[in-house]
Amino acid sequence: MKRLAPYALLFTLIFLLAFQNRSPDPAAEAITVPAKHPAFVMIDPGHGGYDPGVRSADLKEADLTLAIGKELKTALAELQIAAVMTRETDTDYATRGSSGKTAKRSDLNRRMDLAFEQGATMFLSLHVNASSQATRGGAEVFYSEQLPEAKLLAESVQSKLHQLPEMSRRDAKPASYYLLENLPIPSLIIECGYLNITGDRAHLTSPLYQKKLAQAIALGVEEYLKSR
Ligand SMILES: [Zn+2]
Repeated sequence: MKRLAPYALLFTLIFLLAFQNRSPDPAAEAITVPAKHPAFVMIDPGHGGYDPGVRSADLKEADLTLAIGKELKTALAELQIAAVMTRETDTDYATRGSSGKTAKRSDLNRRMDLAFEQGATMFLSLHVNASSQATRGGAEVFYSEQLPEAKLLAESVQSKLHQLPEMSRRDAKPASYYLLENLPIPSLIIECGYLNITGDRAHLTSPLYQKKLAQAIALGVEEYLKSR
C-alpha cells in the first residue's frame, strides 16, 4: 500500500491544478459586497480578445478599458453597489470563425445576453476615444434618447466627471450605438478620454487617474440611484 501513496498525491495535485485552471464565466462571479442600493450594474470593458479597439503606439483601448473597469467594480463595491463585469481578462465573445461586422455583432450580443442573464439593471460600457479631428481631450458619456432614465444617469455621471481637475469639459450626448439601442435598461457608452491627445493619454495610462476616473463614474451612478 505504501507504494500507492505517491500516486495518490500526484492525482490529488493534478485534480487541484485542473480545478484551479478552469476559467469561470467572468459575469458569473459572486457578488461579495452587501448591496445597499437596489441596482445591479453590468460593467462592460469595451473590446478585448480579437478586437483591441483603438490603438496608439503600444497602447490599446481594450487594455485601458479593462483596467478602468476593474477600478470601477471596486469603486462601486465601496459604495455598496453590486456589479459584475462582462470580462475580466483580455477576451471577447465573437462567434469563432466569424469576422468583421458579424464578429462584432456576436460579441456585443453576448455581452447584452450576460446582462439579461444576470438580471442587470444598468449597463456601463467603457471605451477610450481617438480622433484625428479632436483638438482637446475629455471624457464623454453617451445614452439612448429612447430611455429618459438613461439621460438622467448619463448627466449624473458626466457631472461627476466634470469635477475631476484634469478633465476637459464635454457634455453627455444622445447617440444611436447598437448597445444603447438594444438594451432596455439605462445604459451608457462612456468614452473615457482621447488616446491621441497628449494630456488625456498621460492620464488614461496612469493607474491613479484610472482609479479617480472610476470613482467619479461610481459617484455618478450613486447620485442617480439616490435620486430615484
Ligand atoms: Zn471603443
